[in-house]
Amino acid sequence: MKTVASDSRGVERGGGTMMAMTTLALLGALLMGGCKHEPSTAAGVEQKPAVPATQIAAEYDPPAGTPPALKVDGKRAFELTGQFVAIGKRPLGSEGHKKAEEFIESHLKAAGAEIEEDSFTAQTPVGAFPVTNIIGKYPGKKDGIIVLAGHYDTNYPLRNVDYVGANDGGSTTGLLLEMAEEFKKHPPQGYSIWIVFTDAEEAMVHWSDSDSVYGSKHLAEKWKQDGTAKKVKAFLLLDMIGDKDLDVQRDDNSTQWLEDVVGRAAGRLYHSSHFFQTETAVEDDHLPFKKVGIPVADIIDIDYGYNDVYHHTVQDTMDKLSPNSLQIVGDVVMETIRALNTK
Ligand code: ZN
Repeated sequence: MKTVASDSRGVERGGGTMMAMTTLALLGALLMGGCKHEPSTAAGVEQKPAVPATQIAAEYDPPAGTPPALKVDGKRAFELTGQFVAIGKRPLGSEGHKKAEEFIESHLKAAGAEIEEDSFTAQTPVGAFPVTNIIGKYPGKKDGIIVLAGHYDTNYPLRNVDYVGANDGGSTTGLLLEMAEEFKKHPPQGYSIWIVFTDAEEAMVHWSDSDSVYGSKHLAEKWKQDGTAKKVKAFLLLDMIGDKDLDVQRDDNSTQWLEDVVGRAAGRLYHSSHFFQTETAVEDDHLPFKKVGIPVADIIDIDYGYNDVYHHTVQDTMDKLSPNSLQIVGDVVMETIRALNTK
């Protein structure tokens, strides 16, 4: 993934960008605060709010008495991440990539999921490659689908160095497989849950609209054509969420009411110190799904280590991750699912 506000040198994200965005968020908050002091309209004239173009997040707050959300097992998610990352690098076309697919499918099978593959050949600037999105389905009792997603490939440009993507592609795979185990133990009582392991998220040469998120573009188009897109209530994307120093940024490119639902879920679990303290705009696997009309939220911590120093480097290893971060993100996703199921 990359932040939209990259600098002119094409660096994915520098501290300057983050600082700018943080300042912007702060300014926004100040301006919003200022609005409270604006003079009200003439007495007796009720100022009607504009008709909301989107859903209202507060309406998703679970009423008292609603059963609690499932909890994930952060230690188990960390263990699965470690096993998956031990495969090594997994760029498109590699032996590691094949092993990664097998790992995901064997664990999904053991977790009782109905498995579907979305395989195709991607034309990239460095040739044609087989790409496979893997979907694990857990049927629910309500008509509609909540999608949880994360990519499993590692960068092709880093194929010749010892780059394993423990956080970037590893952490989400471990957490999503742990969540699959929870859905085996506690089958969904609300909407169906589909867990999507996207492929070829990473750029093959340099990130652009055409050189990125190959798997997601293909799957989103397929869902548009076969009618699945209309049934998806929410697409919750996870990316780089294992960082010991967990700070999930609010993403301006996501569907804002859905971001609010996630933020309120984090608040109910007292995890707001890890969520949305800063904001940015991210290009990631969620955008192709947004384009076909699906509400999307990218749950991503793109500040990996001080000033994002570990991101896309050989330093992206297991020792930078924490079971606690996986626990927090997993629990917030489960609480978000609980909220979405109230409607
Ligand atoms: Zn990446």
